[in-house]
Amino acid sequence: MKITYYGTSASEAWPALFCNCQACTLARKYGGKNIRTRSQSLIDTTLLIDFPPDTNYHAQILHLNLQAIRTLLITHSHHDHFFPYDICMRSSDFASGTSGSRLSVYGNETTEKEFREAALICGNISQFVTFRRLEPFERILTEDGYSVTALLADHNQPEKSLMYLISRKNRTLFYAHDTGIFPECTWRFLEGQKLDFVSLDCTALSRNWQRGHMGFDAVDAVRKRLTEMNCIGPGTLLTLNHFAHFGNFTHDRICEIENPKGYQVAYDGCSYEF
Ligand SMILES: [Zn+2]
Ligand SMILES: [Zn+2]
Ligand SMILES: [Zn+2]
Repeated sequence: MKITYYGTSASEAWPALFCNCQACTLARKYGGKNIRTRSQSLIDTTLLIDFPPDTNYHAQILHLNLQAIRTLLITHSHHDHFFPYDICMRSSDFASGTSGSRLSVYGNETTEKEFREAALICGNISQFVTFRRLEPFERILTEDGYSVTALLADHNQPEKSLMYLISRKNRTLFYAHDTGIFPECTWRFLEGQKLDFVSLDCTALSRNWQRGHMGFDAVDAVRKRLTEMNCIGPGTLLTLNHFAHFGNFTHDRICEIENPKGYQVAYDGCSYEF
């Protein structure tokens, strides 16, 4: 299995729109891996996670091939993960070559409602996109052969924000964005799972956030509990993602702190095979 990260920032991007803080000033100065866009990841070539306003940029500049996508998983309704109007660009009014196949979109009740509202601008979208609502702990088998289970995140209550456990050919990835330290019902579900790759929310960096999002300390607490539960081991790849423009952090500074602890630090365009 392979994951490619196209967007690795928190909601305001990094450098953030309108922002002149130290972290954003450093990102503009150094560029490269310090330029982070809004959240989106690709599993192999056909399974996409989230659809932010930066999707168009990911397609035009970072070569995300949207034509190949069969399945789209939405984590939650925050705008940095979900811009439904651009999903409607798959209709024949706006795109050619999409006839004869439907994109299957999965998300929670809130995202379903927002998708249906956006679809009103586009009369025939149901021929090109189907939306199916998922409840926490529901498992589906996608048409491209992935077993996907939605897990409940600690984020933006009362919306049921979803994390995803994705398996194919004996490899399992756990995509944990956006979330604080997981709810107990999710910990119970994770018992007995063997995880080959874990992508963890690290929005808060050195700030000690435990709820809604995580920082370095909360991520360590999650790793400790996953280790004690035998869900992860020495062979598991652990990646941090979804960073906010805090303090005087740069990509290299985050790596200096977190690489020695065994975490990879995601950046826009990076990929991992496992
Ligand atoms: Zn987010
Ligand atoms: Zn800033
Ligand atoms: Zn969010």
